[in-house]
Amino acid sequence: MTSVPNTASSIQGGVLYVVATPIGNLADLSERAVQVLTKADLVACEDTRHTQKLLQHLGLRKVLLSVHDHNERDRIDQIAGHLREGRSIALVSDAGTPLISDPGYPLVQALRAQQLNVVPVPGPSALITALSAAGLPTDRFLFEGFLPHKAGGRRDRLQPLANETATMVFYESKHRILETLAIMAEVFGAERGACVARELTKTFETFYHGSLGDIALQLQADDDQTKGEFVVMVAGNPEPATASAFDTAHLFRLLLAELPPKKAAAIVSDLTGENKKALYQQALEIQGKV
Ligand code: SAM
Repeated sequence: MTSVPNTASSIQGGVLYVVATPIGNLADLSERAVQVLTKADLVACEDTRHTQKLLQHLGLRKVLLSVHDHNERDRIDQIAGHLREGRSIALVSDAGTPLISDPGYPLVQALRAQQLNVVPVPGPSALITALSAAGLPTDRFLFEGFLPHKAGGRRDRLQPLANETATMVFYESKHRILETLAIMAEVFGAERGACVARELTKTFETFYHGSLGDIALQLQADDDQTKGEFVVMVAGNPEPATASAFDTAHLFRLLLAELPPKKAAAIVSDLTGENKKALYQQALEIQGKV
């Protein structure tokens, strides 16, 4: 366990500060984030050009170190070395909170394993910003981040969530928003409650609230509304199928008398919302093939 005294104005050497930055509105940058960025010896960032613009806005000139998905593991030793030599480093991503669907996890994990100090400087995140104004239950929620790019992969990720009772939160881009809403309506039902938050904290911030089917229609009706950045929130299933409602072993015995294991597993997965691959394995076991 490591700890550093945490007062607003004390920026310590030998610490990696994980600094949240705005998701659109520069006025959302916290006073403490500005202090850390001002005093840090180095700024580790996802995209140097992007962060340079933020620093220019603050009138700061800093030494930048790029840390992105492709070089992050190679940077760990270098950053750990800087921290051991007593330098302070601010880690930022292009927008919002680093590590939340952004680079930084391998770095923070490695620094913690080496007993080095990591201090969060909290601020905006699209996930919490969207949830806070969506009007969906927030007592329990499940953050699912980005879905796979291919439609089939997205369906496979969503299927096991059909019986989830907590609010589900997804990040989505303009390229896939309409297709994702259509797949969600298919998997969760077009009547399932949802909220889509677009362009949060920016000039054209818009919230769509209603059923998945309605929201998809509203977005389809206006090309401009499919531009920008999106957070998709889906209400939990109000009437989840309970495990006892389906005796999967019994279902398999009935289906396997007529169908190959793959087809049987697909049907049981549709009925129960359980993972297709795990069910296929179960089907093979029931058939005595493994
Ligand atoms: N680290 C960021 C955070 O804390 O929210 C998320 C980074 S992730 C690479 C970018 C995704 O977050 C976007 O594709 C979008 O789904 C969501 N996002 C970021 N800014 C947003 C905004 N202003 N409005 C809506 N969604 C946003």
